[in-house]
Amino acid sequence: MTDRYDHLEYRRTGDSGLKLPAFSLGLWQKFGTDYPYDNQRDIVLHAFDLGITHFDNADRYGPPHRAAQKFFGEVLRRDLAAHRDELILSTKAGNPIGRSPYLTGGSRKSLLASLDHSLRDLGTDYVDIFYHHRADPETPLEESVGALVSAVRQGKALYVGVSNYDPERAHQAAVLLRAAGVPLLVHQPRYSIFDRTPETNGLLDLADDDGFGLVVYSPLAQGLLTEKYLTGIPAGARALNSAFLSPDAIDDTYRERARVLNKIATERGQSLAQLALQWVLRQSRVTSAILGASSPAQLDHNVRALDFPPLTADELALIDGV
Ligand code: NDP
Repeated sequence: MTDRYDHLEYRRTGDSGLKLPAFSLGLWQKFGTDYPYDNQRDIVLHAFDLGITHFDNADRYGPPHRAAQKFFGEVLRRDLAAHRDELILSTKAGNPIGRSPYLTGGSRKSLLASLDHSLRDLGTDYVDIFYHHRADPETPLEESVGALVSAVRQGKALYVGVSNYDPERAHQAAVLLRAAGVPLLVHQPRYSIFDRTPETNGLLDLADDDGFGLVVYSPLAQGLLTEKYLTGIPAGARALNSAFLSPDAIDDTYRERARVLNKIATERGQSLAQLALQWVLRQSRVTSAILGASSPAQLDHNVRALDFPPLTADELALIDGV
């Protein structure tokens, strides 16, 4: 008898019936052919043992593009096939994955061809959530939304989401999707102590009004909101081997901010990573925080973030000050 469902909180996604774990696992970086299969597999299986039922993927993830989904498909086939009904698999399309005009954007052609390819890579008949990865102003919203609706009607996705849409476009998408009988389940924005855009641009309020959940990405600012960069850049850290996090981000200004946040965390008896995760999940509209991880130990540490007392108004004000 497994105890995997005893560890985490499961939160209802917007107005839907679907519950997601407070922590999800994302396969954006360090899942692909450049990294050892066994370590990646250990992370995925450990996540599931911890009760992380939601795995966030995209056609782009790797490197190279599509490698993360091919890897996940292998683990699904070998280790998790008996658990398919207990897994929430997400994929996304619409960010460039090649030079062809059909390997980018929000056209019906791009989105549905990508989804079919992702289903083949994952080795599954359907994904649970299919996202449009980012807004495409060159394609009529009706066309992108229509492709999401088709994915559901064809039985290739159970729910749909949008990612990186500004609130106005997200609202328009929600209206169109509701009219089509396929409600917008979820929006996936970036959100962390270092990027509060969903608070300032109205997305959090819109989530309430339109009844969708927020599944937030980079809640640790790719590792900047952990202790790892306080005194340098350790070997193997993302800042040394990613096109998306430059070592230039680790400057004196950053270190000073991280040091103050780390002190607040230490006084609460937790780590900076745990403080940062608890901070995004204090919002009731945030259904899940998507974690990246390069080891099972990072997951063990991070999922304990909700074991601490709620942040007080004074602590929140101190964090705002940073
Ligand atoms: P995080 O902000 O959680 O960063 C994760 C990284 O931080 C890890 O890979 C690890 O990097 C480091 N880390 C994690 N925990 C610890 C710890 N306890 N101590 C020290 N270092 C730690 O999230 P990501 O930026 O990885 O994004 C998460 C997911 O969100 C992605 O996988 C993807 O699914 C999704 N995403 C979606 C986007 C979109 O456009 N929709 C865009 C970006 C992400 P390391 O050990 O390698 O240094």
